[in-house]
Amino acid sequence: MNISVDKQPCDVIVIGGGPCGSTASALLAEKGHRVILLEKEKFPRYHVGESLMPFCYFTLKRLGVLEEMEKQAFVKKHSVQFVSKDGKISDPFYFFQHFDHPAATTWQVERSVFDNMLLRNAEAKGVDVREETEVRGFNYEGDRVVGVTAKGKDGQEYTLEAPLTLDCTGRDALFLRKKSWRKRDPKLNKIAIWTLYKNAKRDEGLDEGATTVAYVDGRGWFWNIPLRNNIVSSGIVAERDYLYRDSRDPKVIYEREIEKNSWIKEHLGEGEQFGEYWVTGEYSYRGEHCASDGLVMAGDAFAFLDPVFSSGVFLALKSGEMAADAIGKALEQGDVSAGQFSNYGEDLCGMIEVMRKLVYAFYDENFSFGELIKRHEEIRPMLTDCLIGDLDGKDYTPLAEAIGELASVPEPLAHGRVPQAVT
Ligand SMILES: Cc1cc2nc3c(=O)[nH]c(=O)nc-3n(C[C@H](O)[C@H](O)[C@H](O)COP(=O)(O)OP(=O)(O)OC[C@H]3O[C@@H](n4cnc5c(N)ncnc54)[C@H](O)[C@@H]3O)c2cc1C
Repeated sequence: MNISVDKQPCDVIVIGGGPCGSTASALLAEKGHRVILLEKEKFPRYHVGESLMPFCYFTLKRLGVLEEMEKQAFVKKHSVQFVSKDGKISDPFYFFQHFDHPAATTWQVERSVFDNMLLRNAEAKGVDVREETEVRGFNYEGDRVVGVTAKGKDGQEYTLEAPLTLDCTGRDALFLRKKSWRKRDPKLNKIAIWTLYKNAKRDEGLDEGATTVAYVDGRGWFWNIPLRNNIVSSGIVAERDYLYRDSRDPKVIYEREIEKNSWIKEHLGEGEQFGEYWVTGEYSYRGEHCASDGLVMAGDAFAFLDPVFSSGVFLALKSGEMAADAIGKALEQGDVSAGQFSNYGEDLCGMIEVMRKLVYAFYDENFSFGELIKRHEEIRPMLTDCLIGDLDGKDYTPLAEAIGELASVPEPLAHGRVPQAVT
């Protein structure tokens, strides 16, 4: 097939129009850079991951979309609550009890609407957004990425050049896969099955919009995320062997597991399941590196952490913001080598590690939040800081030490930084 050349001048090619790509491209356009964003789907499109963390607020504020968020009237999330295997609910973690700021109230969003809003915001800021355009490969000069080859919506392939490419392709993780740089987290190897319910039971008052995490056997858990129009996003995450022990049919597995937790059974029992059962495996991973000469990765395209604490969209927004700032600096200095992104990689890995410790603790048979707080009431504010996403530049060693009394806390992963420069 004939591959044409698109000669449109461009400073940054952003691949993927999820929260990460939209954030980064909008901020780069605001800095005056020419940005082309290539997205393989036509928006709005369905996406899992509806529950936001409070600290999403700050990136959304910087993007100038808080007013639009209010207009959408998404369900307000004030807390996260945990339900034991036998259906007992613990005291919710109300974010406002610890954090007196508008950000303490966050949202449960339909991602089709939320992601589309962010993509349109990028477009309004001058980003050349090209939907139904799939990036097929990266183009190189020596080892340096100098652009991409994409297939446009007319089916035609074309190449595009830019000094920098930002990979925000989500769990497709295009660059990591091409380089075989995707490294699974050694212990967080789960699968998820999820679906939607209509008219399920909702808690009342402040708790109506809470994210509920309900345990099932073998450290598996359900999420219950109330959305607008009486819809609930419901999913289960657990070990593959546990979920597939007597069937591989997602509907059969789901219905079997609902019976295992009385809180979930009571809440979903009043509702009606609709739509698909989605399944995903190959859970948590991180890239061997976060950048290469001429290319940076952000959001799920760089790392994915088990979603038990709803950190995904927060990390996508935050890393999009961090990547945009680092790219802005690199372009200003005329140096797009991987080394320019060493602080970016270090800071991002540091933030992910804080959440990762909490995720490991969550899956440890010996750990419970109740026990942690009973032993260390003084750690509650720090734990809440972590759960709201206040991760930037904070020292969480005391929290890790307290958790370490109850659960085994993982060492930080050695990878995820920029490749060492060859001298
Ligand atoms: C089961 C599950 C439950 C989750 N629950 C939550 C939750 O409750 N809260 C939360 O915060 N997070 C949750 N997450 C995580 C959250 O979904 C992600 O972290 C978040 O969507 C990452 O944003 P992103 O912009 O990096 O990637 P995405 O949102 O995945 O966006 C990537 C975009 O890139 C496009 N793309 C991919 N390949 C190409 C290509 N070759 N060319 C062009 N475009 C391409 C895709 O079409 C997509 O639009 C969950 C994840 C899973 C798997």
